[in-house]
Amino acid sequence: MRILTLPVGPLQTNCYLIGCPATGQAAAIDPGWSGADIFQAAQDAGLTLTHMLLTHAHFDHVGGAAELSALSAAQLLVHPDAAPSLARAHLEAEWWGLKLPAAPEPDAYLADGQTVTIGTLQIQVLDTPGHAPGHVSFYHAESQSAFDGDVLFSGGIGRTDLPGGNYPQLMRSIRDRLLLLPDETTLYPGHGPSTTVGDERRYNPFLR
Ligand SMILES: [Zn+2]
Repeated sequence: MRILTLPVGPLQTNCYLIGCPATGQAAAIDPGWSGADIFQAAQDAGLTLTHMLLTHAHFDHVGGAAELSALSAAQLLVHPDAAPSLARAHLEAEWWGLKLPAAPEPDAYLADGQTVTIGTLQIQVLDTPGHAPGHVSFYHAESQSAFDGDVLFSGGIGRTDLPGGNYPQLMRSIRDRLLLLPDETTLYPGHGPSTTVGDERRYNPFLR
């Protein structure tokens, strides 16, 4: 699997382009800002965007979705519990003094255990709520990669003080879902550098 990391927008959210080497088809995970830049990065890499996959619908993870959906045929996929926040994301941005177009309607909904196919890539959906309602992570077993949004960071965990946040639920998502993945799994979080499941299990101060 090809992986491109694009930090975008005022909160430097990691948008990940994951591409199938065989077909050139790709998904943008969390197109957080600047849909045109994300589209251009995909073009430059020879990738055709077929999907936008949202870990959750905070505005800094969805801000580029409207522009990207105008520029490409990419389908927008989100967990149903995140749909209300998706519809409100541009209002949430306004509280931060930021202007965003309203996000498009989802094309389909994600469910725990579901597999999303991008070219020949099989991407598994894991429910990981707690930071935000309907938060999911995307796992590609073959390359041992997990895209976990704002659940677990290198040396940190997601905040739970925003609407719909739930600390015990976040800790359950970390312990019962992410930390059950093989230690070698690379974690690609929504902000900051990538890490591994093993390193976070051993060194993350919030998991002691
Ligand atoms: Zn968030």
